[in-house]
Amino acid sequence: MIDRIVNAVADNEEPQEVEFEVTLRPKDFQSYIGQERLKQNIKLAITAAQKRGEPLDHILLHGPPGLGKTTMASVIAHEMGAQIRITSGPAIERAGDLASLLTNLENGDILFIDEIHRLNRTVEEVLYAAMEDFQLDIMIGKGPSARSLRLDLPKFTIIGATTRAGSLAAPLRDRFGLIHRLEFYTPAEIEQIIERAARILQIRIKKPAAQELAKRSRLTPRIANRLLKRVRDYADVNGDGIIDMTINQQALKLLDIDELGLDSADRGLLEAILNNYNGGPVGLETLAALTAEERGTIEELYEPYLLQIGLLERTPKGRKLTPKAYRYLNKQPKRKNQSSFF
Ligand code: ADP
Repeated sequence: MIDRIVNAVADNEEPQEVEFEVTLRPKDFQSYIGQERLKQNIKLAITAAQKRGEPLDHILLHGPPGLGKTTMASVIAHEMGAQIRITSGPAIERAGDLASLLTNLENGDILFIDEIHRLNRTVEEVLYAAMEDFQLDIMIGKGPSARSLRLDLPKFTIIGATTRAGSLAAPLRDRFGLIHRLEFYTPAEIEQIIERAARILQIRIKKPAAQELAKRSRLTPRIANRLLKRVRDYADVNGDGIIDMTINQQALKLLDIDELGLDSADRGLLEAILNNYNGGPVGLETLAALTAEERGTIEELYEPYLLQIGLLERTPKGRKLTPKAYRYLNKQPKRKNQSSFF
C-alpha cells in the first residue's frame, strides 16, 4: 500500500503516533464530538442496562477507519465505570487465546475486539456461545482421551469494530444487540475536533485556517489530527508557530493535499477510470489492477470518501465517475451516443 498522509488507518508501528492518539482521544460523551444518533442510542442502552443492573448488550460498530470506533468503545467503558480490554481479530489466534481473555474478565467488563471480521472460524464459533450464554466450551486433551469442559464466564460486553460489516458471518452479527454505523463527520464537526486538538496540544491556529484544514481532512478525525500536527511542524519551521491561511495553504501544498482533501493517489484512481474506461463503470478487481492497489485498500481507504463527496458512484456494473468528478478533473463527459467512427 502506498504510504499516504491521508490514510485513515492508525499507524500502530509508530510509538509517537500511538501516544499522540491516546492524548487526543476523548474520554466521555461530552468531549466526543458528533455522531449524535450513535451517542443517543448508546446512552439509552447504558441507562437501561444500569437501571436493570445488567451488563450492556454486545455492540458492533462499523464504518471506515479513523472515525472513532475505538474511541467510542473507551467512552462507553468510562460511562459504564467498567474496565476495558483491547484486542483485535488477528491477535486472537486460537480458541485458547480467547478462553484466557474471557476467563480473566470480571462482571461488567468490556472486551473490545478491533477488526472483528478477521477472527478465524474456530475462534468465532467459540465466541458465539460465549456471547450468548456466557459459557465457554473447551476441549481438554487430544485424541480418544479428549473431553469437553464447560466454564461459566463473567457477564461481559463485547464491543466489536469492523471496517467491513459485510464480511462478518451472519451468526456472529446476530449476537450483537446493537449494531451501528459511524458516519463521516460534517466539516463543522471536524473544525471543532481540530480546535479541541489545538487546545490540548497548545497549537495556535486561526479560525479560517482551522476551517480550511477541516475541509481537507476527508471528514475523518484521525486525518484531521494528523494534518494539524504536520501543519504545526511547517508553522514552527517556516513561520512563528501560528497557523494562518498562508501557512496552511503552503503546508498542504507541500503535503500534496488539495481543496477536497484528495492526494495524487486519489486523483490517479479517478484518472485511471476516465482514461482507461471512459469514466466507467469499472469493476473493483480491474480498478485494483489499474492502480496497483489491493482490492481491500480501494474499498476501505479510497472509495468511502470519494462516494461520500459524490465523485464516485457505485452501480451494479461497477464504479463510475459522476459529473462532479468530471468537473473536478476538468474534463467533459463523453456523450453516450457519440460514436467512435467520427
Ligand atoms: P477507529 O477506531 O474508527 O479507527 P479511533 O477511535 O481510533 O478510530 O479514532 C482516531 C482518532 O480520532 C482518536 O485518537 C481521536 O483522537 C480522534 N477522534 C475520533 N473520534 C472523535 C470524536 N468524535 N471527537 C474527537 N476526536 C475524535
